[in-house]
Amino acid sequence: MINTLPAGSQIVVMVFIFLTGLCTGSFLNVCIYRIPAGKSIISPPSACPECGERIKFSDMIPVVSYILLKGKCRNCKASISLRYPAVELLTAVIWFVTYLRYGLTVETAGLILLFSILIAVFFIDLDHMIIPNGLVLTGLAGGAAVFLYHVFIKPFGLYGSTSWYTPLIGMVSSSGILFLIALIGLIIYKNDGAMGMGDVKIFMPIGLFLGWKLSLLTLVLSVFLGGITSLVLLILKIKDRKSAIPFGPFIVTASLFSALYGNELIRWYLQLCGY
Ligand SMILES: [Zn+2]
Repeated sequence: MINTLPAGSQIVVMVFIFLTGLCTGSFLNVCIYRIPAGKSIISPPSACPECGERIKFSDMIPVVSYILLKGKCRNCKASISLRYPAVELLTAVIWFVTYLRYGLTVETAGLILLFSILIAVFFIDLDHMIIPNGLVLTGLAGGAAVFLYHVFIKPFGLYGSTSWYTPLIGMVSSSGILFLIALIGLIIYKNDGAMGMGDVKIFMPIGLFLGWKLSLLTLVLSVFLGGITSLVLLILKIKDRKSAIPFGPFIVTASLFSALYGNELIRWYLQLCGY
């Protein structure tokens, strides 16, 4: 961990990051539920999907409210999905781990933005097999900010390179490869469903944030993860050959790993190869 803060303020920062992560997770729940439905993520205020009763502000405390209400709506007692507190906790833990990994840096700030967008992508793709353009564009805007920081202020550590064009290559490398695969599938097999354009597009902000090396690592890891999971689901007969499995969740999991530990993995691998 790269940190020079005194122990006291470090604990304050950690608590702050964890709590802000919980609240962001709560907002991500709204995004996951409303974006695919084409609803605004700002208004109206949250309501119970069963009875339509507006949720009181005091019942919107991440995780805590869920436990106090025993997972049921205060008004109609309909059960609330365990996914809500799970997404809140997951977001907080990912923010926290990112801070432990990169400290109080621009890398941490950039990654928690990217990861938050990707958590929404994970669940929306899992539920609806789509990756909304709004999330891709938000990611590109954040990635552009990181790119400007890299060029004009200080090279961005994750890129592993000081060249100004590293993130731009990152933006088009993995997404370009996936686009070609989709194109070949379309031409040869007349197959337009195997590789969604959403998967191609989400690799653009990922590449912009991570640079081309970690972006390519993310692509390799996600194909690997997706392949193993599909195989297990086929063997366990949970899915059959014809059923489509969303690729987004694997891209998200792989980019999380690449961003946090990818540079170490690449270094270890190159050493293993004798470089
Ligand atoms: Zn209700």
